[in-house]
Amino acid sequence: MGKKKKEVDDRFSKFGTVSFTAITKVNDFIDYLEQGKVMATRCKECGRVFFPPRADCYHCLSSDMEWVEVSGRGKLVTYSKLEFAPIGFGDDLPYAIALLDYGDYKIFGRIADDVPENEIQLGMEMVTEMNRLPNGQLNYVFHKA
Ligand SMILES: [Zn+2]
Repeated sequence: MGKKKKEVDDRFSKFGTVSFTAITKVNDFIDYLEQGKVMATRCKECGRVFFPPRADCYHCLSSDMEWVEVSGRGKLVTYSKLEFAPIGFGDDLPYAIALLDYGDYKIFGRIADDVPENEIQLGMEMVTEMNRLPNGQLNYVFHKA
């Protein structure tokens, strides 16, 4: 009986380690945002880039990841103007969500308020930049390149 209990304890500590890693990754993302950097993770084994950042690669199952800055220009592949928003985002309406293609990866996000809607065109080049909200929270938005 005593042996069985020990096995359970070991598994539990293993699970705790996994969770801690995941939380650390998210906190690092916020630290980078505070420095004005929007970061993705890249698998050191196969080179795939993930955004939002992942702690593990679903392609080769490696956990050997490194941070890479989302820099340069992405192409606008699709966007959608939102007339309705989740609770808490209603004051910002209307705004546009979009998908930028950086070649190796794509980033889903929001087009900055200062980009006039009539200037938004599919295929246009945009950059991803850190944005500080009036309430002090951090996110990222797309600006015209
Ligand atoms: Zn990989």
